[in-house]
Amino acid sequence: MRKEDCIFCKIANGEIPSKTLYEDEQFRVILDISPATKGHALILPKEHYANIYELPEEKAVGAILLAKKMMAEMSEKLKADGFNLVQNNGETAGQTVMHFHFHLIPRYQEDGQHIMWKPGTVTQDELEGIKNLITE
Ligand code: 5GP
Ligand code: ZN
Repeated sequence: MRKEDCIFCKIANGEIPSKTLYEDEQFRVILDISPATKGHALILPKEHYANIYELPEEKAVGAILLAKKMMAEMSEKLKADGFNLVQNNGETAGQTVMHFHFHLIPRYQEDGQHIMWKPGTVTQDELEGIKNLITE
């Protein structure tokens, strides 16, 4: 299924042009229009899935294998020192385009980026409570 008003459906299926690094029947890999670093790319499934919860298992496997392949190739060609694989789900988590995508963000020494979270604090009791909440 494709979604009529979804910009990533249009890009993934070639209706809107993009700087495409790779394409097959299921995915298109494009350069991000507002890159965090040189080579920041996005893996887009051609079908519309809003987020990781909607993504079928076989597509999830395909996406991670493609991410691995692209990261290795880009790392070599761009001479990156590291890589962040980022995937946001929901507005609160920073998702702005509601069509599943992986961010492939090559990292370079002194690139000025900070793709991290602020470490918090928690007690052992709180950790135990959270563990129980998830596992019970
Ligand atoms: P999100 O915030 O949803 O995880 O990431 C959306 C990403 O899509 C952002 O990094 C943004 O720069 C990128 N983006 C949004 N619109 C376009 C577009 O029209 N073309 C391309 N190439 N990237 C886009
Ligand atoms: Zn879409």
